[in-house]
Order: sequence, then C-alpha cells, then structure tokens
Amino acid sequence: MPLAETAGGWVITDDGRIRASVPTIAALAGAGARVIVASHLGRPRNGPEEKFSLKPVGIRLAELLGRPVAQATDVVGPSATQTVARLTDGDVALLENVRFEPGETACDDGLSDRLAALCDCYVGDAFGAVHRAHASTAGVPRRVPHAAGDLVLAELGVLTRLTENPARPYAVVLGGSKVSDKLAVLGNLLTQADRILVGGGMCFTFLAALGHDVGGSLLQQDQIPSVRDVLRRAEQLGVEIVLPVDVVAAADLAADAATRTVPADAIPPDLKGLDIGTESAQLFASRLADAKTVFWNGPMGVFELAPFAQGTRRVAEVIAALGTGGALTVVGGGDSAAAVRLLGIEEEHFGHISTGGGASLEYLEGKVLPGLSALA
Ligand code: ADP
Ligand code: MG
Repeated sequence: MPLAETAGGWVITDDGRIRASVPTIAALAGAGARVIVASHLGRPRNGPEEKFSLKPVGIRLAELLGRPVAQATDVVGPSATQTVARLTDGDVALLENVRFEPGETACDDGLSDRLAALCDCYVGDAFGAVHRAHASTAGVPRRVPHAAGDLVLAELGVLTRLTENPARPYAVVLGGSKVSDKLAVLGNLLTQADRILVGGGMCFTFLAALGHDVGGSLLQQDQIPSVRDVLRRAEQLGVEIVLPVDVVAAADLAADAATRTVPADAIPPDLKGLDIGTESAQLFASRLADAKTVFWNGPMGVFELAPFAQGTRRVAEVIAALGTGGALTVVGGGDSAAAVRLLGIEEEHFGHISTGGGASLEYLEGKVLPGLSALA
C-alpha cells in the first residue's frame, strides 16, 4: 500500500488495494457475518512500528464501506480478543498489521492457532499475498473451514485466461529493472506466448547477450548465459523476441538530465539507457497491433522521471487501446500498475490490473501458490 509521510502523519497515496478488498467485506457483512479483517502493510522487522500501523487503512476502509470499522491495537492480543468479542452480526473489525507478529512470516503454529481461534471460518481474499506461506494466508485456512474471496477468484479467472488457451496472437511486454527477477516467468512464458517484447532495464542484458555495447546502462553480466539460453529457446519454439532499436540515454539519472536518443546497438560508454526510444515504441506498437491477448509487466523506462516516461506512456496507451478494442489486456506488477495511475491513463481501459505483482508473476511462472493451495 503506497503511503507518504506528511506533517500530519502517514497518509495513503494510492488506495487501490483497499478499494479492491471492499466488495467481499461488504458482501460478508451484508449477509450478517461478523467480519474480522486481517492484513499486512510494509515490512516491519521487529514488532510493531507506528509507520506500518493499519490505523489509516481502517479509517479509509470505513469510509469506503460506509460502516464503522472497529480497530484492534494488536493482532492476537487482548485488544484483538476484546474487539472481536464485542462484534455483533454485520459488524467489521480490523486487526493490527499481522506482520507485527514475528510468527506471521514464519507461518508459526502458535500464531496460526491464535488467529484461527478468533474466527469460525476464513475467507482468503488477499491475492497480493497468496504466494506467501504465512500464518494469515496459509496457517489459518489449514485450521478452519475456508473459501476463496471474490477478488482472489477474479484474479485467478483472468490469469487462467492467460495460461489456458489464450486468444492469439498472445503478446507479452516485459520491462522493469532486473532481468534476474523476470527469468523464471520468461522461461514459462516462452511456452505460451507468441511474442515477447522486452524493454526497461532488463533489455540491456539482452542487448549485451547479442554482443552490443550498452554503455553505463543497467547490465547483469552474470545473467548473460541465461539470457542467451532464453534467446536460443525462443528461436527453437518460434517465439519472437522484440528488443528496442533505440534508447533515450543520459549521463545521469536526474529529472533535468540532458537526454539523447541513440541506437540500441551502439550506446556510448558514458551514457545510460533509461527509456526506450520513439522508434522502439513504434516497433512495439506494430508488434502489438494484432494481439488478442496482452500481458504487461514492468515499465519501459524510469517512468518516475519525466524525461524517461514516454516509452512507458506510449506502450501503456497502445495496450489500453487494444483493451478498448476487445483484446484481453492484463497488467501485473506493482510498478506497472503505479505507472498506469501516475501517467493518468484510465484504469478502466485495461481488462485487468492485478492487485498482486509478485503473486501474478509466480502464478505465470507455473509455481504452486501456498495461499491458494490452502484454500483448496
Ligand atoms: P514491476 O513492479 O511492475 O514488476 P519492476 O519492479 O521490475 O516492475 O521494475 C520497476 C522499476 O524499473 C522502476 O522503478 C523503473 O524506474 C525501473 N526501470 C525501468 N527501466 C529502467 C532502466 N532503463 N534503467 C534502470 N531502471 C529502470
Ligand atoms: Mg516492482
């Protein structure tokens, strides 16, 4: 959940994930259930930390639900027990950040028992956390009757359309920073997609694998053999890999940097490639034009800085237009979703923007997701 610190404390800068949780909570409360909401925020390391408190989340949740939300000041302690005991039918309570308990990420039996003791049954709706085997995602549903929530079912419905018989051509756009983060999903997508377009920081390891000079661009030298292997397998499988032909480069990563567009196969040694160029964006648009299914993960450049945001904007606009035209378009990845919102592109123009970047990537890698297995 994106938060920012202000003079008045921590404020929510993007409430997309809270909004996505509302329908299931509202349906349960509307049906008369006493709903206990458990969630996490950030990565607190050693117990409770004020900046990771769910207090602002509870306030926003109550506004969105149009119902009061009783907030506990701990996860399974006296406040949680008391808050839950006071609920009547149709009430909603929010526990404190489950990661304030060290047993959460360890899927500790004691914590799982105590969480399970608070409830009669469990609804798993945290799609963004289903790739984690934690107490609140896997421990509790192993102990009480359980079901998947509507958000999890909707996310799975879309991801299944990507993996089972996608409408073709199926094009994948990958970007972001490190190629090492994306090799596993790339390996699996090679057996499913017709085309894979690569931009962002990860494209430079591809360009280097082809023998090109990438100057000072982001390069993972140790991943070159794996990338060569991807290129070989793509050729064997008849999957087209599309790489940038030009890049927007600068000497420094700065909002006021002087930029130059240079050929992707000859980046001067003193420059870093920080976005795909206009010709590349055009090439990507042409390789997307007839796609019936598109999965996009990872921005095309350092979109956080205006001089390097154009490539991501153009590609996002092309994908949005395909979605409006009837193709299935799916955006997965925290930064990609943030880019869509930051660039002011209407979210409704995409078929689906996943609330779980890591979870959707791991699903597309073909991995078993512990939070889903526990709901079976
Ligand atoms: P997602 O969260 O959508 O999966 P990633 O976390 O993999 O995406 O990558 C997002 C980050 O990649 C952004 O912060 C962006 O600035 C960075 N990035 C994109 N292109 C480049 C580039 N050419 N050089 C360095 N960083 C880049
Ligand atoms: Mg990211």
